Amino acid sequence: MTANFSEKPTPLTELHDSLFERRQIRVWIKRDDLNHPLIQGNKWHKLKYNLQAAKKQGKSTLLTFGGAYSNHIAATAYAAKSFDFQSVGMIRGDELAGKPERWSPTLKTAHQNGMQLKFLSRQSYRLKASPDFLDELKQQQPDAYVLPEGGSNDLAIKGFEPLMQELEQQSPNWTHLLTATGTGGTLAGLIKYAKNHPDDSTTRLIQGVAVLKQGEALLPQIRQWLNHKSAVKWQLLTLYHDGGYAKLSNPLQILKSQFESQHQIPLDPVYTIKMIHAFYQQVEQGAFPSGSQIILLHTGGLQGNAT
Ligand SMILES: *Cc1c(COP(=O)(O)O)cnc(C)c1O
Repeated sequence: MTANFSEKPTPLTELHDSLFERRQIRVWIKRDDLNHPLIQGNKWHKLKYNLQAAKKQGKSTLLTFGGAYSNHIAATAYAAKSFDFQSVGMIRGDELAGKPERWSPTLKTAHQNGMQLKFLSRQSYRLKASPDFLDELKQQQPDAYVLPEGGSNDLAIKGFEPLMQELEQQSPNWTHLLTATGTGGTLAGLIKYAKNHPDDSTTRLIQGVAVLKQGEALLPQIRQWLNHKSAVKWQLLTLYHDGGYAKLSNPLQILKSQFESQHQIPLDPVYTIKMIHAFYQQVEQGAFPSGSQIILLHTGGLQGNAT
């Protein structure tokens, strides 16, 4: 089975809420969750040019890193299958080795899609996912194309160029763009390929909402990906992690169900719900000036709803 790299634009759907009317703002959600069922949302953008590079370099295997609930692991396994690569997933947590009955739905699906899973203790995982070790790994396994944890590298960031062009066509006057942030690769890609507002006196702001604690730690890497340049303002919001990665409090579970039933749009429990929460909090605080045209990027991750 060999898939192809062509892409259809995903819908940009306006959200209606009396709160938005009162604040005189307009809000859209960019439905990138609809781009692919398993190589979904931002994971497709991040993988696309890496897959092409791996093919060009004649690699037979994709090798990458992630936790038991990683959308990147699920996406890489499926992408490998679709584009005729073998795949190896180095998974954080050796307590899962040899115990497939305890695997998360993410790991089970990845395994069904042909990914060979190797479980590492948390300590050796930390070591092996480090940049130095990745270089060593590339030398030891010349057939493998090695992707870092979360799939964020320079080619991943370049994958957001077509998305930003698409948004510019669909909504030339946008003022704000929000995304959920894990490694910061997606945020860096959006910022890097964002243009000024066509009306020079209007500023644009891109916000990343960190889903893990200590999000500030991502900033040096994000600045490096950006080469310290950007045409728009941007910020990383670090107070909306709701207890940490993959933690979801009751109030956020309720917000998730309310949003899903009001707008008939599914969210994922790890990433997009935290972006939506940060958005509503700011609307309530009056943080968006009247006249704002706000885009919420749905980065996908819906496979994480499987229990
Ligand atoms: C992986 C993921 C993110 C985080 O992307 P980064 O580029 O690592 O910041 C955001 N949303 C969803 C749904 C994801 O699966």
